[in-house]
Amino acid sequence: MKTRQDQITVDEVHRVDVNVSVGFWCNLRCRHCAVEFHKSQPDLTTDEVCAEIDRHRMLSAGRLVLTGGEPTLRKDLPTIIAHAWTVGFRSIHLQTNATALSHRPLVARLTRAGLTSALVSLLGPTADIHDAITRRRGSFEKTIRGLANLIGAGIKVATNTVISRANLNHLATLARFITQRFPEVHTLCFSYPQASGGVLKDFTGLTPRLSETMPHLLAALELATECGYWTWVSDFPLCYMPGYEEHSAHVFPRLTVASDPDPEAGDDAILDFEGQLRQAKVKAPVCRKCSLTEICIGVDRVYADHYGLEELSPFKAESTPAVPK
Ligand code: SF4
Repeated sequence: MKTRQDQITVDEVHRVDVNVSVGFWCNLRCRHCAVEFHKSQPDLTTDEVCAEIDRHRMLSAGRLVLTGGEPTLRKDLPTIIAHAWTVGFRSIHLQTNATALSHRPLVARLTRAGLTSALVSLLGPTADIHDAITRRRGSFEKTIRGLANLIGAGIKVATNTVISRANLNHLATLARFITQRFPEVHTLCFSYPQASGGVLKDFTGLTPRLSETMPHLLAALELATECGYWTWVSDFPLCYMPGYEEHSAHVFPRLTVASDPDPEAGDDAILDFEGQLRQAKVKAPVCRKCSLTEICIGVDRVYADHYGLEELSPFKAESTPAVPK
């Protein structure tokens, strides 16, 4: 029987991502979000965004990721996508909360312009949970409609859930909700909160410990896997996802190039996103004995400051799970 895992394509396991941030504005105020703290910066003009895309056209065999803020708030998004298509990108991906996409004509315009895939932020299986995190009543219903509209337009859709204390107990229910309501979604992503922005304001209030998170995350991964879905986990150390190590978003050799949205930053602003992410992470002394230490991302420095590193426990060579080379 063909499973969803067999259907994973270059859009899901891509080797090169070109991330272009098209602005900082957003219509939600997610408690864990880093972007809120940049909202005073002006958004790039249409020409500036297109120039950013041009700057990376030599990587057009990879995937262009349009991120923000919330990219769908830009009226020129169809123009930007069409430009990316014109310069050679054939995989054009949108990171979105999908609320604006509850308006079906906008989805149609983006699809006609060349949009191929989307990652939709879904933070809970009910309006109570999701809206409490986004701090916008009604956002859950709009996101669900947006998700359905994307699927209806033939866009390949994955979901992303930033884990927090507010949804921790509901991760498996969320996985069940997605698999039952949206069988067309190909991948469920779970992201451990990054220590920036809103998370820094209330780190322990938002961020569950690794040991608290693990049983809920594993239950969600197990449920999604049993239903034939692929899963990715970001920013989580491998010793806390036993049996799912190859589902870590950090174990595949790939390059994520991120543009700095400052138009005056020049070519120095082409950043190795994964490399930068790893610089913010630390490992425990015991990690030196771990056979996965080369590929594991470890934990955030801020996590270590608040909770310590005693939870980390090394894999021994004889118990090393299979991970991609
Ligand atoms: S012991 Fe350290 S290197 Fe090994 S999986 Fe855990 S965090 Fe990663």
